[in-house]
Amino acid sequence: MGKFVYLNGELVPQEEAKISVFDHGVLYGDGVFEGIRAYNRRIFKLDEHVERLYNSAKIIMLEIPISQEEFKKAIISVCKANEIVDGYIRPVVTRGAGTLGLSPWLCSKPNIFVIADTIKLYPDEYYEKGLPIVTVPTRRNLAEAVNPIVKSLNYLNNILAKIEAKNAGAEEAIMINQDGYVAECTGDNIFMIKKGVLYTPPVYMGVLPGITRATVMDLATEMGIKVVEMPITRGELFIADEVFLTGTAAEVVPISSIDGRKIGSGSVGPLTKKLIDRFKEYVKTVGTPIA
Ligand code: PMP
Repeated sequence: MGKFVYLNGELVPQEEAKISVFDHGVLYGDGVFEGIRAYNRRIFKLDEHVERLYNSAKIIMLEIPISQEEFKKAIISVCKANEIVDGYIRPVVTRGAGTLGLSPWLCSKPNIFVIADTIKLYPDEYYEKGLPIVTVPTRRNLAEAVNPIVKSLNYLNNILAKIEAKNAGAEEAIMINQDGYVAECTGDNIFMIKKGVLYTPPVYMGVLPGITRATVMDLATEMGIKVVEMPITRGELFIADEVFLTGTAAEVVPISSIDGRKIGSGSVGPLTKKLIDRFKEYVKTVGTPIA
């Protein structure tokens, strides 16, 4: 059976889901989006993702013409139509079709679409042995310019960092902020463990407030691990006992080395392993049913 896309109130066959070349999402990256996972026929943290989508939209003064409840129903409907069991969902709201100028107020109305499919980011080997990563020259967007708390369609900052990582032979990049502190990776948040304490940069360092990040912080606290949000330097990461990344698509990824420095034993650290196991168990038991 063919797949469907939710587009402006309707479920349309994937091949027929089209928007205008005049859409400012296409012309200027003017819009917002989310990435959500479904596990075991349930949508993980649906409320949190929809809330973040509306927050992103509010910051860029994009009024989403349907309510959060209607948006959730739209997400559920496309998951149901595509018979999603374990999947990946991409809700997008663009500014809509406008003129060739920048003015968002000349755009007719936002386009809303939701894709429900599957995703695999990294090969299994990286989850078993750890992923080697590098820091890159491109700085994370300055919060006072394009605030990283907005999950906007303008991902060029992250894409440039990803290209630099690839050029250096790595799959993922650590991005440093304007002040020289560790911010996040191109599509994931970063954590380090030192003497049994879990550290991650605060959101004001210029990071997306990740929903996986929040989940892992909650699970760690429940497991009796102390969690501290603190500015982190590159040097501190090099001498950490363990480092891992979190993100909806990537989930929890152990890091084996950073800029050629082996992290801990150079494979999956013991606390990281525990957190990965707990995360995997947790995601299967919660979420909004696709029914
Ligand atoms: N940072 C950036 C830049 C991202 O794009 C993402 C993934 N959306 C994350 C962090 C992780 O956020 P989440 O756990 O909510 O997917």
